[in-house]
Amino acid sequence: MAKLINGKEISAQIRAELAEETKAFIAETGITPGLAVIIVGDNPASQVYVRNKRRACEEIGYYSEAYELPTETTQEELMALVRRLNGEEKIHGILVQLPLPKHLDEHEVLLAIDPKKDVDAFHPTNVGHIMIGDYAYLPCTPAGVMALLEKSGISPAGKEVVVVGRSNIVGKPQAMLMLHQNATVTVCHSRTVDLPAVCRRADILVAAIGKADFFTAEYIKEGAVVIDVGMNRRADGKLTGDVDFASVEPKASYITPVPGGVGPMTITMLMKNTLTAARLAAAKK
Ligand code: NDP
Repeated sequence: MAKLINGKEISAQIRAELAEETKAFIAETGITPGLAVIIVGDNPASQVYVRNKRRACEEIGYYSEAYELPTETTQEELMALVRRLNGEEKIHGILVQLPLPKHLDEHEVLLAIDPKKDVDAFHPTNVGHIMIGDYAYLPCTPAGVMALLEKSGISPAGKEVVVVGRSNIVGKPQAMLMLHQNATVTVCHSRTVDLPAVCRRADILVAAIGKADFFTAEYIKEGAVVIDVGMNRRADGKLTGDVDFASVEPKASYITPVPGGVGPMTITMLMKNTLTAARLAAAKK
């Protein structure tokens, strides 16, 4: 039977540490870390994420602003807001909740965020820093995965790691972080031939494809660590991962549940980046 990696507990522990660090930082510098979150339109899932981010800011002791803009917001209006926030001293991190409505150019908006305030680490400047292993901002979800492993006493060094999914926000940065920690990394995608066989090589399998209950026991090596990044809604509205938990759990040594695994870690890493952004701003003064 696999040990459960409890993302909720680990996340709460890291947030408590961040709250302590924040208190000390404010006492020392007089600066309260500030995060601005921008949401355009009325996507219910995005609204939940934004609410959770605000709550996390309150819990840790940050200043936060939320901009809830109507769907008809123009590119110019959004760009103007980002530029204004770039210049706001009390805002250290800016996050634009994705996806944006179709008529808006996501790429242009993300490029407009000052890389020093890019707490999602999506700006090409920060992506480049992550690539060379010299970075201040953590790519939130992959960094959350690394924190779960570390807190569970699992080192990727020397291990075969298979990451399934090659998106810019999860798969690719995940592979980089694993490589920086000396894993031997394979990245798979929809054109990978014989995916089950490649996955069975994994000492650590990271599933990030967005397909409910896709990874069954045949993808898993006996004793593997299985990290499920997937967040999918079943027809009955329940949240489920990319891993078929019931069939995989008996074969794995460690496994993350969905919900309560990787999910809570993403916002926690965003909070960590916000404190980093405030520290960088303080160091410049
Ligand atoms: P994308 O849709 O951007 O990327 C999916 C990737 O999976 C692509 O690289 C695609 O391959 C690959 N893929 C799709 N189907 C298959 C298949 N049958 N076999 C092998 N590879 C496949 O998704 P994201 O990276 O944004 O997200 C992945 C999952 O993680 C989603 O469920 C998302 O909800 C979840 N997520 C969870 C977060 C959290 O906080 N826990 C945060 C972000 C995402 P190709 O490139 O060839 O098309």
